[in-house]
Amino acid sequence: MPGDALSQDPAEIRGRIDTTRAHPARVYDVFLGGKDHYPADLAAAAAGLAANPRGYLDVRHNRDFLRRAVTTLAAEDGIRQFLDIGTGLPTAENVHQIAQRTDPGARVVYVDNDPVVLAHARALLTSGPEGRTDYIDADLRDPAHILEQAAQTLDFGRPIALCLVAILHFVADEEAYPIVRELLDALPAGSRLVLSHLTDDLNPENVRAVQRAYTARGFTFVLRSRADVARFLTDNGLETAAPGVVPVHHWRPDHAAPVPEQPDAAYLDSLDDIEKVRYRAIGDVT
Ligand code: SAH
Repeated sequence: MPGDALSQDPAEIRGRIDTTRAHPARVYDVFLGGKDHYPADLAAAAAGLAANPRGYLDVRHNRDFLRRAVTTLAAEDGIRQFLDIGTGLPTAENVHQIAQRTDPGARVVYVDNDPVVLAHARALLTSGPEGRTDYIDADLRDPAHILEQAAQTLDFGRPIALCLVAILHFVADEEAYPIVRELLDALPAGSRLVLSHLTDDLNPENVRAVQRAYTARGFTFVLRSRADVARFLTDNGLETAAPGVVPVHHWRPDHAAPVPEQPDAAYLDSLDDIEKVRYRAIGDVT
């Protein structure tokens, strides 16, 4: 049974959507080539791309890392339960589709705080009869509530993969480390943490320019070094799986969905025209 999120009044959900301000889930959707975003999100994406023309590749590499990580956990490590916080808008390959390819009985709980994601949550709840998915409309900064709700679908006596993929950079240090600890403390032995994070270790000038552009639009955008990211694991006594904390596209690449390394000149020329950028980006992966 889906959770409370889907029983919310659609008019109430619509009322929470502020289309005048850019929102991370929708800016991310622009870079993935989706269509669930508004002019403010396109403007933020354009500003981000102007600061870092390769930024859309980072997003695609990140999404592909999520696919490989979930595939590995399901197919090689036998993980059958996933708690995916910061789900993003439904796209071609969501966690339940990836995990249930290995085992149709895999269970997935999605969590996001964006009402636009909530409005699309039905697309995330399309398990076959054997599997279960649920959606929780909640904020990462309320881990106790997330854990309580997730326990309606997930068995906290069996291993769970906690997915915090491209979300922790929206949370300040004083909150981020305790939140991750509280979530991990609730998971049984054999559980996993899947984590990706923005950093200014690589390409620092461009990434900091993106940070400035997004901060000006009201996002919290915390860039963390490799050592700071590793602390989410080591401070909590986790063993880091090979190959360790690496750029997302270096984590067990399988080349199943090639992402171009170099945007071509036509792509760069079209930076002033976000629509063309989007179509170029879509063209790159087809
Ligand atoms: N994990 C997906 C999507 C990343 S985009 C992927 O890697 O492909 C980041 C998502 O985190 C967005 O959907 C945004 O709405 C969500 N998010 C950001 N801050 C959040 C918070 N405090 N609580 C819950 N979700 C949050």
